[in-house]
Amino acid sequence: MDRKDYRHWAHKAADWGASYLEDVVDRPVRAQVSPGEIAALIGDGPPEAGEGIEPVFADFERIVPDGMTHWQHPRFFAYFPANAAPVSMIADMLTTQMAAQCMLWQTSPAATEIEIKMVDWLRQAIGLPGGFKGTLQDSATTATFCAVLTMREKALDWAGNRDGLSSGPRLRVYASAQTHSSIDKAVQLAGIGRENLVKIPTRADYGMDPAALAEAIAADRAAGHTPAGIVICTGGTSIGAMDPVAEIMDVAEAEGLYTHVDAAWAGSAMICPEYRHFWDGAERADSIVFNPHKWLGAQFECSAHFLRDPGELIRTVGLRPDYLKGPGDEDIVNFNEWSVPLGRRFRALKVWFLLRAYGLDGLRARIRDHVAWTEEACERLRAHDRLEIVTEPSLSLFTFAHVDGDGPTQALLEALNDDGRIYLTQTSHKGRYVIRMSIGQFDTAREDVVYGCDVIEEMAEKLT
Ligand code: PLP
Repeated sequence: MDRKDYRHWAHKAADWGASYLEDVVDRPVRAQVSPGEIAALIGDGPPEAGEGIEPVFADFERIVPDGMTHWQHPRFFAYFPANAAPVSMIADMLTTQMAAQCMLWQTSPAATEIEIKMVDWLRQAIGLPGGFKGTLQDSATTATFCAVLTMREKALDWAGNRDGLSSGPRLRVYASAQTHSSIDKAVQLAGIGRENLVKIPTRADYGMDPAALAEAIAADRAAGHTPAGIVICTGGTSIGAMDPVAEIMDVAEAEGLYTHVDAAWAGSAMICPEYRHFWDGAERADSIVFNPHKWLGAQFECSAHFLRDPGELIRTVGLRPDYLKGPGDEDIVNFNEWSVPLGRRFRALKVWFLLRAYGLDGLRARIRDHVAWTEEACERLRAHDRLEIVTEPSLSLFTFAHVDGDGPTQALLEALNDDGRIYLTQTSHKGRYVIRMSIGQFDTAREDVVYGCDVIEEMAEKLT
């Protein structure tokens, strides 16, 4: 493809995208294909002779969209949203076209400097005090992994990176059972061992019990183990559980432990001051992550990782081999030293576009609507005689079940997703199979939520 063809096909791709977004509402939300169906349509090996882009584009249109689950569908009520506001897609197209590689300041100065600014804009937007610095990681999983590595190294006085872990003490990390599986993964990958992730019991409101936390730490110290840190959950994936952050911070500070707050989903809601009570005390944490790529609208991937002392993270994961050194390194930020991969995308551009195009007020209005419609949907389903609410709304998430138990609830979910008009997913709660309703897709309107409730009721009635 030459430059002239590039212009033609780039226009065509943009046109395709605009039409896709206009019509996505008419597609089934969850892909309706069977495993292997798409692979069967793809050749078994690469062609020796180039085909040009025309047949490839035609095959893309024929094969790919029907094989996708449509996260930008306004009737997507599954998992948590992965919102891509149109302006953030445009920003991502621009960075893709520059093929930006932002590992060092000098490999992309604008990317580094805009990232510093955007992390600070996001900090202000969610009401964290000045003093927190940060970076845009690819995912919350990476941010949590970096935080767990940092708590490990701090607890070992940075000997783990140098000497390995075999002769060190048994490290312990604390979190509630409501935290996301990325915490288990981080503890596993950090060499601490999943057995050393201590799951602290929760209170009646599903937040971690600080007294139980203090007891667990005391018991570990008595047993000769070394507590390393605490992962605090603001908005758990299963039912939206909220840990009492300030009370946990009291324990952490008394024990001198590193703290990381996982607010991957709920953090976006903190742009609305009225929801900040959910994480009172987060301003005292060492590390906080939230994903603008979930609820806020910054196209995946974009995970904001705030740090009270970035030096601790850099000391843990940063390396500067000779070939990466540049003049004046001491006075500039090289963001590869704040994360696991060396190469990194220009994530800040989509945040800049998003925040400026919508303004905080525009983004707040969406989040407030989602929370209000969640309450409405919950009351509507509560009133239906075949359905029961299992957990009450936490921001824009609640869970429900069929009154006849797990089998019918699972059958209801499968029927809903095979039908395709809406998409929901399940979790287990207190040993029960329950359906999560998560409202937060960027283009969802109240009518979509009402329609979603109509479909749920219709399918629940068909089952009985
Ligand atoms: N933490 C929470 C609370 C989540 O809900 C999720 C994903 O849904 C994650 C972490 C992992 O997010 P990511 O896909 O950015 O790694």
